[in-house]
Amino acid sequence: MAESYKNLINGKLTEAKSGRTFENRNPANWEEVIAVFPKSGKEDVDEAVKAARAAFEKWRLVPAPKRGDIMRKIGDILVARKEEIAREMTREMGKVLAETRGDVQEGIDTAYYAATEGRRLFGNTVPSELPNKFAMAVRTPIGVAGIITPWNFPLAIPTWKIFPAVLSGNTVVFKPATDTPKTSATLVEIMMEAGIPEGVVNIVHGGGSEVGTAITLHPDIDLISFTGSSAVGKQISRDASETLKRVSLELGGKNAQIVMDDADLDLALDGVLWGAFGTTGQRCTATSRLILHEKIYDQFLATLIDRTKKLRLGDGLLPDSDVGPCINEAQRSVVQSYVQIGMNEGAKLVTGGSIAAEGVLAKGWFHQPTIFADVTPEMRIAQEEIFGPVLSVLRVKSLEEGIGVLNNTVYGLSSSVYTRDVNKAFVAIRDIKAGITYINVPTIGAEAHMPFGGVKQTGNGHREGGWTVYDFFTEWKAVYIDYSGKLQRAQIDNY
Ligand code: NAP
Ligand code: MG
Repeated sequence: MAESYKNLINGKLTEAKSGRTFENRNPANWEEVIAVFPKSGKEDVDEAVKAARAAFEKWRLVPAPKRGDIMRKIGDILVARKEEIAREMTREMGKVLAETRGDVQEGIDTAYYAATEGRRLFGNTVPSELPNKFAMAVRTPIGVAGIITPWNFPLAIPTWKIFPAVLSGNTVVFKPATDTPKTSATLVEIMMEAGIPEGVVNIVHGGGSEVGTAITLHPDIDLISFTGSSAVGKQISRDASETLKRVSLELGGKNAQIVMDDADLDLALDGVLWGAFGTTGQRCTATSRLILHEKIYDQFLATLIDRTKKLRLGDGLLPDSDVGPCINEAQRSVVQSYVQIGMNEGAKLVTGGSIAAEGVLAKGWFHQPTIFADVTPEMRIAQEEIFGPVLSVLRVKSLEEGIGVLNNTVYGLSSSVYTRDVNKAFVAIRDIKAGITYINVPTIGAEAHMPFGGVKQTGNGHREGGWTVYDFFTEWKAVYIDYSGKLQRAQIDNY
């Protein structure tokens, strides 16, 4: 009998009001049911929002350094439970253990950053234009935050949102992805254990179209922080406009790595292998396009194919596995359909291209690491996010042409250039349209204390991570204090 989980609303474990449930399975072995979760709906969201609203009135008055103390404790518990959580995460969503350990570590880093932010949350003081008058702007909490997250970073992404939300004095209604409810449930359990009061963080499990939509439309939710696909992001943006909520959207990518003819080619090769096939290509920052200078194209591609063929597919819990499964059957079918699209478009399939189902792999949703060469910039496999282990390789004659190809998509999340020429590096930093640019580093691997997010259709202008996320979760209040003892009028011509 699989373990059975509940929602956590106002500190109480509760079933979905409908009584319905859904199963969470292991993508490396679909026969394995990990646990059963409540399939909630609007009624459950209503309860959670009521609890979060009531809790907000007390939580907003707790001094931020005290809220920070709880964050530190959350970090300590995550440290103690890191290995256990990483193993459960691999079972739940498939990426290899080194990566799930990294996912937990990112949550730890985010917790300790939030702990110290409790003693900053800097505002501004400025001189007043009038004598004996003081002017300052302070950050204030906003209210109830709806948090909706994807499955590919089941711990890190929720922490990027929930920790700054709560540290800033907001309360939370959290809907995790239905593919990864267990890691999210563990996170909330740890937050409670560390001393987060009842009602401050509420988790409601269930589907996007039921729970997600109910959160987005709810009149008593003030802000939405969402990470996921661009299609759902656009829907959320429309739904949230009904109540003019503040909305942060972190969406898809079609990230590219440029390799110049002067680059350290061994380094660039390690970079693209990790960027393209780490997390089975299922990262918003995954390298899905490789842009090679024509002088090194043939040589680089040949070695890349060779190295890619040596990658070992398997259960992420086994030490020999380099690449885990796709998250589910539907996602693997999407990957397969893009392989077909690439062939129809006339790109050259140089390795992979098929599902992998030999031996034990037949139990999971494995797909061979796949490379298309001779891809041209307008092909769909060069334009659309695939979210799987598929790399499109393009050829260019110069850095300028490479940057043009790199920028030629609706997305703008991560980007990478390998070169030993510092002049080229700075031109690339200046001209690439992306939220993140790496020099001699793959497109994946953001650090928790730096701004994270993208331009164009990757998002709507907000940033997570570091100090920047606190701009989203706080509201500015302008404060004027007049100690002159008389009516002094600003906005009157005093000059
Ligand atoms: P997704 O299908 O968009 O789902 C994301 C979340 O939204 C899930 O919790 C989902 O619930 C929920 N949802 C679905 N429909 C909804 C609706 N109509 N209203 C409200 N919520 C709804 O994305 P995914 O497949 O989990 O993740 C992959 C995508 O995320 C990729 O496009 C990737 O690029 C992007 N991503 C972006 C970043 C970034 O920071 N830019 C980071 C990681 C991933 P269910 O689980 O029930 O469907
Ligand atoms: Mg699962």
